[in-house]
Amino acid sequence: MAIWNPWHGCKKYSSGCLNCYVYRRDAQFGKDSSIVTKTADFNLPFKKNKNGEYKLTEKDNPVYTCMTSDFFIDEADPWRNDIWEMIFSRPELHFIIITKRIERAEYCLPINWGEGYENVTLVCTCENQTEADKRLPVFLDLPALHKEITHEPMLEKIDISSYLSSGQISRVVCGGESGSDARICDYEWILDTRRQCIDAGAAFYFKQTGANFRKNGRVYNIERRLQHSQASKAGINYEPDAIADVLKRLSSSRFRSGFHLTDKDKTYIKEKGMETIRKHTSDFINKRLAPAYIPNDGKQTPMRGHPVFTAQHACACCCRGCLEKWHHIGKNRELTENETEYIINVLMSWIEIQMMD
Ligand code: SF4
Ligand SMILES: [Zn+2]
Repeated sequence: MAIWNPWHGCKKYSSGCLNCYVYRRDAQFGKDSSIVTKTADFNLPFKKNKNGEYKLTEKDNPVYTCMTSDFFIDEADPWRNDIWEMIFSRPELHFIIITKRIERAEYCLPINWGEGYENVTLVCTCENQTEADKRLPVFLDLPALHKEITHEPMLEKIDISSYLSSGQISRVVCGGESGSDARICDYEWILDTRRQCIDAGAAFYFKQTGANFRKNGRVYNIERRLQHSQASKAGINYEPDAIADVLKRLSSSRFRSGFHLTDKDKTYIKEKGMETIRKHTSDFINKRLAPAYIPNDGKQTPMRGHPVFTAQHACACCCRGCLEKWHHIGKNRELTENETEYIINVLMSWIEIQMMD
């Protein structure tokens, strides 16, 4: 991942900007953030090292563009065409452009934009329902090959289901606000957006908790350095493609598709709540599937007794042999953290789909 800030400085624009981190950081150096200036990195994608090679290469992807300003701010109008040219000339790099000023985009796109550049993802930020309802219709009308939505800082519960149903949005990112005056972000809002993403088949990413995070009515003050890791620990990210693919393959197996949750299982899941079921899943996987050596491998998952066992058989996550055959995860070694996370996500997705039946 790389960051390219061709210009610096921004004007506060909507309520999400109240505690803008650019302003907070500049204030420490007595710098006025409202003045927009070109930076020394303006032509970073064209910069070369002393061997004549580009400084930014494919391994730096994605390139987050304009993170200390807004890409579509009007002060930058005279400079933007040079930026588009650089982006167009480096198709092997992928640029991520995050903006609150989506309604300016139409007037700021390059002549050869067409349906969008293959190497650009446009991200529309909306911090609350009002901004979502103002910006997202404009965003959907805009040509772009890759579109994402960000709720950062997420200031309230936001219903974007009607926009997601367009099928244009590939991913939604949520996060809280950082800084000493951070407004609260509630876990329920995050989970609600996640549900909307799953319904619409869009990816979901919980990026960070923010400094004041509310869960089950209690507000936790979370240190800056833990805000990302705490979000990732929640284990609620959702990638529809990989999981949807494997679930589709499994549904074509007569054996695997013969497993279903019973009414008793469903009542049990409703009583416990999905979060607890996820914990059970994690325990089972870590104890019975993750170790390098499992003495009763192939027989460690009972056929009944817990809904997760059923899910494991349905999803071919019952033993290391099935994991290897169906998920290409090798045997005779400990599972990595990512693999464990993936298996838990497959199982939870299967359970969520069964619960909708
Ligand atoms: S648009 Fe972004 S960079 Fe500009 S003031 Fe708002 S939060 Fe800060
Ligand atoms: Zn098995």
